[in-house]
Amino acid sequence: MRQSKLATKTLKETPKDADNISAALLIRAGFIDRIGSGIYSYLPLGWKILKKIEDIIREEMNAIGGQELLLPALHPREYWEATGRADLDAWYQVKSKQGKDFILGGTHEEIIAPVAKKMIFSYRDLPIYLYQIQTKFRDETRAKGGLLRGREFSMKDLYSFHVDQADLDSYYEKAKEAYFKVFNRCGIGNLTILTYSSGGPFSKFSHEFQTITESGEDTIYLCKKCNIAINKEIIDEQKTCPQCNGDDFEIKKAVEVGNIFKLGTKFSAPFEVNYLDEKGEKKDVIMGCYGMGPSRILGTIIEVHHDAKGMIWPEAIAPFQVHLLAVGESENVKNKAEELYKDLIAKNVEVLFDDRDESAGVKFADSDLLGIPYRVVVSEKTLKEDGVGLKKRSEGEEKIVKIEELINKLK
Ligand code: ATP
Ligand code: MG
Repeated sequence: MRQSKLATKTLKETPKDADNISAALLIRAGFIDRIGSGIYSYLPLGWKILKKIEDIIREEMNAIGGQELLLPALHPREYWEATGRADLDAWYQVKSKQGKDFILGGTHEEIIAPVAKKMIFSYRDLPIYLYQIQTKFRDETRAKGGLLRGREFSMKDLYSFHVDQADLDSYYEKAKEAYFKVFNRCGIGNLTILTYSSGGPFSKFSHEFQTITESGEDTIYLCKKCNIAINKEIIDEQKTCPQCNGDDFEIKKAVEVGNIFKLGTKFSAPFEVNYLDEKGEKKDVIMGCYGMGPSRILGTIIEVHHDAKGMIWPEAIAPFQVHLLAVGESENVKNKAEELYKDLIAKNVEVLFDDRDESAGVKFADSDLLGIPYRVVVSEKTLKEDGVGLKKRSEGEEKIVKIEELINKLK
């Protein structure tokens, strides 16, 4: 992609309506645009990243047997009346011209359960794991966290259906591992802590995945011995570490990037999602649900990976791998940079080519703001040394490398 053709421009000033560091940087860099409190557009570069995060999630959900589907976002209200959740504070209620009531989906248990009922008849149909990645709507009172708390946001929600609790328990552990694979691949694994939270009637605990950052709204009690935590909301009923029984905690601010929950028969019973067991007896299906927020993960990545100059994208989800900068006016520089741009494309390297008529200062500042993992500079100076300047965004020093060497390194 040529930067001269890129639809978005960078801003010099930090936007006044940005809620936190990640929103400020993403808006300044032209990755997202704020339409209203908790409502954002994903502009070309931001959308590229969101899709990469969603694809990582897809791969890991498919690897644990997940089958992707897409449920509607517009829900006839009666589905929600079946479970008594129609009037929760978080839902946007919508009326049609004919006066029929709808709810905009803020979660999908009430929709997936009747769908699964049409798929499950006998124990032979179980287990199944269904998931979607979709826009959710929630009337958040405090939508002041940039992408961390949207009123409209992206969620991956997986629902599992089992013959019994033991089968759910074993799948739940697999899902935990898959979640950490996602967070590792997105570059936030080392800061993301498995956190015990209250479980409801069907299990003692549920689990959240909390990424430690000062901008997080949640407070967690991190066990100093184990790499797990307890959510503040249950610290009164669970005063010791569920793993080592210790009571030496460190209090940390964190953002919940995912959570998993054993639902038991909470949704299968009202929607009569049942099956015939081996003896021909009718039983309620046992369910689990597994949520994760791709758009919140996007914001969280920048909360934890930035510096004073801008964003620092992990390679797996960066919009481009290489930011190629042509620095200087000379024809020689322009030609060499054009040639290298074409070579990199031919090698399938994702490259953003700053071919604009801008000063070196503007180009370097934009490059730091955008945070593409590798910066490659072609200038008179580097050409004199018969090479290009290579610098990792996450590291300090620029090195001169030969073009051949660069291409081998990047491919
Ligand atoms: P929170 O306590 O932060 O409001 P939640 O418990 O309501 O989260 P869930 O209903 O379990 O969250 O949603 C599953 C996942 O969706 C969360 O772990 C989070 O990653 C994401 N998520 C939830 N609410 C939002 C939001 N308003 N904006 C962005 N992502 C969200
Ligand atoms: Mg919530």
